[in-house]
Amino acid sequence: AKSAGRDGYRFFDAAMTEAADERLRLEADLRQALKRGEFVLHFQPKIASPSKRVVGFEALIRWLRPDGTLIAPGRFIPLAEETGLIGAIGEWAMHTACQTLRRWREAGLCNLSMSVNLSARQLRNPALIVQVKRALAESGIPPGLLEFEITESVAMEDPSRTIGSLRALKALGLVLSIDDFGTGYSSLAYLKLLPIDRLKLDRTFVTDIETDPNDAAICAATIRLAHTLGLSVVAEGVETQAQAAYLAGLECDEMQGYYYARPLPEAEARHFIVHGLNC
Ligand code: C2E
Ligand code: CA
Ligand code: CA
Ligand code: CA
Repeated sequence: AKSAGRDGYRFFDAAMTEAADERLRLEADLRQALKRGEFVLHFQPKIASPSKRVVGFEALIRWLRPDGTLIAPGRFIPLAEETGLIGAIGEWAMHTACQTLRRWREAGLCNLSMSVNLSARQLRNPALIVQVKRALAESGIPPGLLEFEITESVAMEDPSRTIGSLRALKALGLVLSIDDFGTGYSSLAYLKLLPIDRLKLDRTFVTDIETDPNDAAICAATIRLAHTLGLSVVAEGVETQAQAAYLAGLECDEMQGYYYARPLPEAEARHFIVHGLNC
């Protein structure tokens, strides 16, 4: 029994070392992936209610490995944030999203907006404004069609600094959204101080909206509050016609989710605009 215990410890040590090695390997892999151009963006449409028109897309990053496997952002964005690599990856995502929208516009595709997710580190980076100006200038897209999504927890992290950064982005004419709304701890008074345009209602409240009276009440109250503050609301994770109908009844402004489309590679996203619900 004693030796089993010792083996237990040794095993634990080995497991920890292995985890640290794995982390270092992944960090090196991420650096190379960026250099080799292995990141891709997929685009998920946002559908206006009640018109059911495609009004814009959210750009979501994936890692396409040389062997053809597609890695979800949940498996590498957290480490990219910890190591600071998110700065370069995030700038790539913003630039690429703007260039994609430029191509769609050149092909005559309507007044679509493009949303990009912004991490805490990017928001704190003083170089962000210059990067945004460059991405806008190089793509020629109107600033009002570029949207940044900032999670509620990031927005609440360092309020005074966040407000300063958000004001600078707003001064460029961008649209700002609070992502995953309802999962953090926003005080309503603070929400009023942020120069934001929209809330994205977190998927966790949408999933059981028809069966859980608490979720339904949270959705209803959030939409009412947002409208009172002059904000629009996008519901995430809409997977069924019934959820969409329920949210439409609450006057939710836009919907996003698998019911309409999964995040799509560029060519399919473009196809979706032409042959889908828009135009
Ligand atoms: P998010 O911003 O909350 O994005 C929504 C996530 O929900 C996406 O996962 C999307 O594919 C998924 N989703 C959309 N509709 C549905 C639905 O109807 N049902 C379900 N079950 N899921 C749905 P994804 O693409 O794996 O992205 C995960 C997270 O990674 C994103 O969450 C975002 O926080 C982060 N992320 C993605 N791209 C970037 C990026 O370029 N930069 C940064 N900083 N973060 C990113
Ligand atoms: Ca988002
Ligand atoms: Ca979200
Ligand atoms: Ca979410």
